[in-house]
Amino acid sequence: MISYPILWESGVYLPEQHLWLDPRQPRPRAVISHAHSDHVADHPLAYATPATRRLVTHRRRKPSAGTVEAVPYGEPIALNRCVVTFYPAGHVLGSAQTLVETDFGRVLYTGDLRTRAGFTSTPAQPTPADVLVLESTFGKPHYRFPDAGEVIAAMVSWCKSVLDGGATPVLLGYSLGKGQEILSALAAAGLTIGLHASSFGVTEVYRELGCDFPPYQRLGDAGPRPAVVIMPPTARRAALADQLGVFKTAALTGWAMDRSLKDRLAVDAVFPLSDHADFEELCCYAETIGARMTYTVLGFDEELAMHLRRRGLRAKPLAAIDQLRLF
Ligand SMILES: [Zn+2]
Repeated sequence: MISYPILWESGVYLPEQHLWLDPRQPRPRAVISHAHSDHVADHPLAYATPATRRLVTHRRRKPSAGTVEAVPYGEPIALNRCVVTFYPAGHVLGSAQTLVETDFGRVLYTGDLRTRAGFTSTPAQPTPADVLVLESTFGKPHYRFPDAGEVIAAMVSWCKSVLDGGATPVLLGYSLGKGQEILSALAAAGLTIGLHASSFGVTEVYRELGCDFPPYQRLGDAGPRPAVVIMPPTARRAALADQLGVFKTAALTGWAMDRSLKDRLAVDAVFPLSDHADFEELCCYAETIGARMTYTVLGFDEELAMHLRRRGLRAKPLAAIDQLRLF
């Protein structure tokens, strides 16, 4: 079996290039693929797209937490023993796949990936590579997402039935990415929309970066009560009754394909709207790239690697590599 000098150190690590991709811990020199907090740390020097840089800066508690150098999509930069280029990943605004050209071949790290069109990000396009490092969030076969248009229609219809029943629909989605997708999806429904403060702040940055949205207001600001509310799943719901009266909640996430999710989250409804590729999309993506080796990372890395092998690819979880063998 061929081995490549690529390791898993709570992030992808290329030791010969002394470069980390999405490490969870601060590292001397790292790529940040997108601004979700589980992909960001306070690295002394990091590289990211301009939109990711802006979003990371917006969300950082310590403004002095290291330098993030902005690198636009498609513009190669030369680093230590490699050339790095970002390509759209389709996940959230600014999200990037990272191509690292090395003397042992072209390494493509997808980061979180979506191949379908969303409202606020360009879908991921396959880029030829010798080694693919594939993020495996929904890497099990039962994660097959329905058509997003049908999911949105069901979500809007649920909102209208909740309103008809005299309650306020509250839609739960992460403040960065999902919140803006839900907001855009509601554009045609003609409802007044209230955003939780954290969703509101990120949406203002999206607008500054050129995204268009239907009108919205910050939840709690003076004015008429919004017909529908968007907030992160982690926000406290206890105070909502004072602001909204009777309300009902719905979670929008790919995990809605798990039957137990509705009970686990204690919500009234779930809708499988995702900003990730589903299982079949991940497999097709890996097949299209056709790399000599596919390393799966995070999520269901072992299951996805097994299914890719059954489909004829050479694949294994990066975390399973015997690191001692490489030194
Ligand atoms: Zn993400």
